[in-house]
Amino acid sequence: MTAYPHLLRPLDLGHVTLPNRALMGSMHTGLEETGDWARVGTFYAARAEGGAALMVTGGLAPNPEGAVLPGAAGLMSAEDVAHHRQVTERVHGAGGLIAAQILHAGRYAYSPDAVAPSAIRSPISPHRPRELDEAGIEKQVADIAAAAARAREAGYDGVEIMGSEGYFLNQFLVRHTNRREDGWGGSYENRMRLPLDVVRRVRWAVGPDFIVIFRLSMIDLVPDGSSWDEVVTLARAAEAAGASILNTGIGWHEARIPTIATSVPRRAFAWVTKRLMGEVGIPVVTSNRINTPEIAEEVLAEGCADMVSMARPFLADPDFVAKAARGEARRIAPCIACNQACLDHTFSMKLTSCLVNPRACHETVLAAPPAAAAKTVAVVGAGPAGLAAALEADRRGHAVTLFEAEPEIGGQLRLAARIPGKEEFRGLLDWYATELAASGVALRLGRSAAEEDLPEFDELVIATGVRPRDPGIPGTGLPQAVDYAELLSGAVEPGQRVAVIGGGGIGFDVAEFLAHAPGDRPSQDPEAWRREWGVGDPLQDRGGLRPGGAQPAPAPREITMFQRRPGKFGATLGKTTGWIHRSSLRARGVKMEAGVEYLGISPEGLRYAKSGEVRTYPADQIVVCAGQDPVDSLARLAEIRPEGRTHLVGGALSAKGIDAKRAILQAVRVALKI
Ligand code: NAP
Ligand code: SF4
Repeated sequence: MTAYPHLLRPLDLGHVTLPNRALMGSMHTGLEETGDWARVGTFYAARAEGGAALMVTGGLAPNPEGAVLPGAAGLMSAEDVAHHRQVTERVHGAGGLIAAQILHAGRYAYSPDAVAPSAIRSPISPHRPRELDEAGIEKQVADIAAAAARAREAGYDGVEIMGSEGYFLNQFLVRHTNRREDGWGGSYENRMRLPLDVVRRVRWAVGPDFIVIFRLSMIDLVPDGSSWDEVVTLARAAEAAGASILNTGIGWHEARIPTIATSVPRRAFAWVTKRLMGEVGIPVVTSNRINTPEIAEEVLAEGCADMVSMARPFLADPDFVAKAARGEARRIAPCIACNQACLDHTFSMKLTSCLVNPRACHETVLAAPPAAAAKTVAVVGAGPAGLAAALEADRRGHAVTLFEAEPEIGGQLRLAARIPGKEEFRGLLDWYATELAASGVALRLGRSAAEEDLPEFDELVIATGVRPRDPGIPGTGLPQAVDYAELLSGAVEPGQRVAVIGGGGIGFDVAEFLAHAPGDRPSQDPEAWRREWGVGDPLQDRGGLRPGGAQPAPAPREITMFQRRPGKFGATLGKTTGWIHRSSLRARGVKMEAGVEYLGISPEGLRYAKSGEVRTYPADQIVVCAGQDPVDSLARLAEIRPEGRTHLVGGALSAKGIDAKRAILQAVRVALKI
């Protein structure tokens, strides 16, 4: 008897039956653009083997003007068909099914050739699109249908028509972006004409025995978005036009409400999809922040949808479904929704990976064959680097001993898990504990490895991490000056008027911690979270924007952040999440002072100079978040041990800009060399 009867139930689509209800949602990985099609095939085949019922590729352009970027992958030629055939053959060989997403970016195209219903520039692109004329519209529809036909020719089992997230089709649907007065604008009937023409023409191009998913924006989260009546009208019409599945889109890319970040509650939008259940006869898929089989099962059992779409969880663990089916859900590497190695990479033009699983999209370059000879390996430090190194070395057949001075594993991850909105890090710690218990790693907790412990080991991995940097500001020895680790670990209580020194990732985390009263955890309380961000009910509020806007709880204390660098705070934060932290803190009244020179800390507060003027911020607590220094006292062992047998990883190697993503990747690479 499975714990996930709804998730593991097959879904009959008529001409094909899906083995379960887990759809791997579309992700732009950048793999196609490498031109290494064997690598693309390996990525998808691994997820097919791992049990995803149906996968959707990253967005593929139907024509150059619809591409998200010049040169982005597409389905525009016979050559494209030949490339994609290599992918579909690998997936079918692994027993899987895969649909190609056809994505026309419209005004979101990062190109001067962008086209749109109206010539209105989007706030997230520098390019003003060209308004399409009648012939231009016909060309776009024909190109999308031709791309669908090529998808079939390439061996795909279906297509997903991207009709949400504010892309081209979505742009026609709402007045926010469609100001036309011809037959493609004005009334809703006219505005939905293009998306419906696309569905009809795609169905005609691919024939009846082919999956056609229409991704429909159920809650736009932008002004003048669709009303709920319009969503239902479109859903029914898309079904009549030939869609075989409706997938859920949440929020436009330009929306100023987070929709998938780690601070968004799990299954935060399943209630929106549920509203559509019963309105159409075809299966409906829900998505966003579903990252465990338990949540997927709950959502399906409650009748929120017929299927769940999970995207990033399949980066973190390709075997998500297989492990759930085997009763090993606790062994699924969790997606913590951090975006650090996936979406942040995409938006920096880097290949996607995963913080938790650096092998994602790197399956062919980080292969882990069994070790040629089993060795004894000591790993010192059970933070992210040490944990990853120990587990990887163990998997390869080495005899690993992991030393940790603290009574618990986790290192800096334990501090991260205490930040409101970062609770997912707890799941990562639990997963590491489960993996260690299931491994052959000998764990020595509460045991600071001394030099004399280590010579007997063939290989030594030093993963001793970092300590908070003392920036040398006069007065850091006073009781009101504390470092971030003391505050976040609970060793000291927060003050009432607090100065945060440093505007990096940790400064922001500390400010979030201080800006929430105990028990104020919007990421664990969906109604509080909706209030905080102004998410309304689309039944009453067009586009799902709550009248009155965001209503965050005020911070329980006065907080001011400081940095020496002039200009914007949070410049080093993640590309896709920095704006969320800035908005959230500003909304809670946190002040930010950039371009300061620190003069000293005294019982009166923090003295600093700004614009030639000396000021005192009368703080009763000053939290220092001024970066870190490596803890590398064991590094000298490299000189006395046999050459090449001692490896420093993570913060112990270099503390500058170190984060869990870099630490884990380095650790895995070292473990593969041993
Ligand atoms: P960081 O991002 O490098 O920031 C260090 C901060 O300390 C800067 O704001 C810097 O600002 C200040 N600083 C540096 N030296 C100083 C000195 N001598 N005196 C006073 N201020 C000084 O490092 P972090 O905040 O410690 O974070 C560590 C790593 O974890 C980073 O890679 C970070 O991106 C990552 N992380 C990310 C997140 C996230 O994205 N949400 C959260 C946590 C951690 P000024 O030099 O301008 O004063
Ligand atoms: Fe999930 Fe973070 Fe991995 Fe992206 S990088 S898949 S958000 S854990």
